[in-house]
Amino acid sequence: MRIVALAGGIGGARFLRGLKEIVGPQDEITVIGNTGDDIHLFGLKVCPDLDTVMYTLGGGIHEEQGWGRADETWSIKNEMKAYGVGPEWFGLGDRDFATHIVRTQMLGAGYPLSAVTEALCDRWQPGVRLLPMSDDRVETHVRITDEQGPRVVHFQEYWVRLHAAVAAEAIVPVGVDTAKPAPGVLEALAAADVILLPPSNPVVSIGTILAVPGIREAVAAATAPVVGLSPIIGGAPVRGMADKVLAAVGVEATADAVALHYGGRGAPGGSGRPAGLLDGWLVDTADQAVVAAVEAAGISCRAIPLLMTDTDATAAMAREALALAEQVRR
Ligand code: GDP
Ligand code: CA
Repeated sequence: MRIVALAGGIGGARFLRGLKEIVGPQDEITVIGNTGDDIHLFGLKVCPDLDTVMYTLGGGIHEEQGWGRADETWSIKNEMKAYGVGPEWFGLGDRDFATHIVRTQMLGAGYPLSAVTEALCDRWQPGVRLLPMSDDRVETHVRITDEQGPRVVHFQEYWVRLHAAVAAEAIVPVGVDTAKPAPGVLEALAAADVILLPPSNPVVSIGTILAVPGIREAVAAATAPVVGLSPIIGGAPVRGMADKVLAAVGVEATADAVALHYGGRGAPGGSGRPAGLLDGWLVDTADQAVVAAVEAAGISCRAIPLLMTDTDATAAMAREALALAEQVRR
């Protein structure tokens, strides 16, 4: 079975770890990773979501934190601070720095990001084929208004420095309009037996991937069933501040509103409305009450426990997602 998943950072990576537990040795998992969170820091190209997937599946992640390397030290950061060189708000540890140095060196030598990612994964052996959504530079920016007036900040500044404490007025994936899907992305979607949308951020993780011209269309046109899992439980994100970016695109932070935002597969696009994507949607048992509303939109919906408390619980979620995919397969 060829499984394709679109993934952001922590939510995507943890789900994929559960998925890996339940697939057979013949099954292939291709991950299309979000690169809209990428940022240039200290002259280095940092790809937070790709690295979170790579470290999580490759056994190098800082478990409690969910991002960055295990057993990290902070000498470089402290030395930079001694020089008065920031930003101080973005945590890059010594071990993590090595990844960004290798990546930046290879990009400088002319390799596309997809080839660089493959080279980094040679070390980590994540057990999935990890593809960046695009080799072209895309950087999500957020429009805010604060004491400095209306302005636009990099997504990382909004998320990490400002903790999404001010309202996001607009989310702008700069560069996405002219970005091309990375080699293998459209082919993987066309050849997929199942397409999964893990409980990643629907706006700045999965939304950004879908905004690369051709990707949303390829998901909508795929012969494979498309099944998603809600990152929202009981009207709030399980972790992080997804509600802030959902508000920016006019979507309520509820499990059913996110499903309708992705849209049912039956719903045709046109007149400014993008084609719907979902055949199936999993919500948490706490959201049992929204199942009927999701099904009314033509999306098969089940309520199951959706908390990724450990690998067993996450594997059970992945098993339910694949089971729902079989039920909705046309
Ligand atoms: P990021 O790039 O690190 O923000 O990670 P993702 O975009 O992949 O995932 C972030 C989303 O994961 C957040 O909106 C969370 O609500 C969601 N999430 C985190 N942990 C869980 C969990 O245990 N269960 C569910 N259903 N969602 C989760
Ligand atoms: Ca991210």
